[in-house]
Amino acid sequence: MDQSSADVGGGRRRDTLKKSFEWKAPAGVAALSPHCDDLAFSLGGAIWDRRFAPLQPIGIFSHSAFSYRLRTTDPEVVSRERKAEDCRFYFRFPWARPPRWLDRPDAPLRLGIDYLEAVRVKPDPADEAEARVIADLLRPMLDPGFLVLAPLALGGHVDHRIVRMAAGLLVNSGREVIFYEDLPYAGQGEVEKIPETVAAVEQETGRTYRPQWLPSVHLEASRRWGLECYASQTFEALLELLLAHPRNLAQAGKPCERIWIAAP
Ligand SMILES: [Zn+2]
Repeated sequence: MDQSSADVGGGRRRDTLKKSFEWKAPAGVAALSPHCDDLAFSLGGAIWDRRFAPLQPIGIFSHSAFSYRLRTTDPEVVSRERKAEDCRFYFRFPWARPPRWLDRPDAPLRLGIDYLEAVRVKPDPADEAEARVIADLLRPMLDPGFLVLAPLALGGHVDHRIVRMAAGLLVNSGREVIFYEDLPYAGQGEVEKIPETVAAVEQETGRTYRPQWLPSVHLEASRRWGLECYASQTFEALLELLLAHPRNLAQAGKPCERIWIAAP
């Protein structure tokens, strides 16, 4: 995390960022993305602004047969394309390392359900087993001193919930984890209810989390770049969905992304 390198607009801008970004800069950030595009769409503005540097993106359920646009349901073909999209997105940012993937099968492949059903799957002991596998795979991959960024699982998608559970296991083993608001799901619920989800995370981890707003002048550009890169996963109307939540969170007229940081 490199505050001094907010290389977008001189001293005044740097001062603003310093004020709004208060925790001690870690050696780097390992960011967990349940599916290939989640992190890019949820924190693209902050990534663009180099708030997480060096950044190691890690895709969890990167084995998938789902695409809006590819004319195949072959998971090998779809997963290869999704990873290529991931690489293209992050290649633009020199402070981001090439993404890594765990290649866990996503909910439709794993559970034999339609992709729309994935947000309605009830909690199951198998989720905890999957979360343990993921945490075990992640531990040796994480650089010493790197902070872990994980999704809050807003919207209740089973894969996002499992990644949050895995993040909780990492907290238990001494890792510092901060949480981000998943888009587009965060924009589809009531913003006032997000603290309820944070309260659930606090119960799971035994920590207290405080919100940190991350204003960015690059929010819209980051979303457009994401839509261009992740073409197999997206549709036209998604842009508005991805921008509505940051506008809801706006501070002094500036759209924001938001993360939740463990109180010291
Ligand atoms: Zn997702």
